[in-house]
Amino acid sequence: MSHLNTHAGSLFMVAAPSGAGKSTLVNALLAKESDLRLSISYTTRPPRPGEVDGREYHFTTVEDFLARKDNKEFLECAEVHGNYYGTSRILINQHMQAGTDMLLEIDWQGAQQVKAQFPHSVGIFILPPSIDALEQRLKKRGQDSEQVITRRLLAAGGEIAHAPEFEYVIINQEFEVALSELVAIVKATRCRFNQQAARNSALFAQFGIHANLSQT
Ligand code: 5GP
Repeated sequence: MSHLNTHAGSLFMVAAPSGAGKSTLVNALLAKESDLRLSISYTTRPPRPGEVDGREYHFTTVEDFLARKDNKEFLECAEVHGNYYGTSRILINQHMQAGTDMLLEIDWQGAQQVKAQFPHSVGIFILPPSIDALEQRLKKRGQDSEQVITRRLLAAGGEIAHAPEFEYVIINQEFEVALSELVAIVKATRCRFNQQAARNSALFAQFGIHANLSQT
């Protein structure tokens, strides 16, 4: 058994095509679930208006990003829409070993890399209710150029093709419904035997309940 399985925290990955409403849903989830922490990724994409370095992302240069990659600082990294994105390995390990549940907003390439290292991570894919809705949402955001919007729409099909690799799918038609489904997934995952055993080791010891090694 890998040492990674001794982590007490759960690892959630949320993926979606741009315009599915992922960030809004994730932010609402984080507001409801105070024990869940968002991993702040590194990116070479320039900040959008209103984005703050260290809050939405650690904004960095291609040179710095590639140096970190060579240094094996990323748990996963990928090129998405012409920019690099990566998740800090050390931060994830620290938080998870401390029992904190972590949430990664990543694309399918990153999700595949994480799944290979954390087989019990939980993948959640968010779908927009229709292609039309996706296009409208991308245009309404108004933060990207026409050229960027077109590129993201084309990429949406590629991202959606990987939806079957995720355990859960949420259709973001009605925000409140989608949010409650997201909360339900987080709560159910926290009740997994080994997550409970790690969090409540004294109680489990009192009852003489032993770790379920088949379900790490
Ligand atoms: P945006 O530029 O709109 O913030 O994000 C574009 C895409 O990059 C989204 O699909 C988002 O999930 C993905 N992304 C953001 N951070 C990471 C990361 O750390 N790793 C990977 N693989 N993808 C990321």
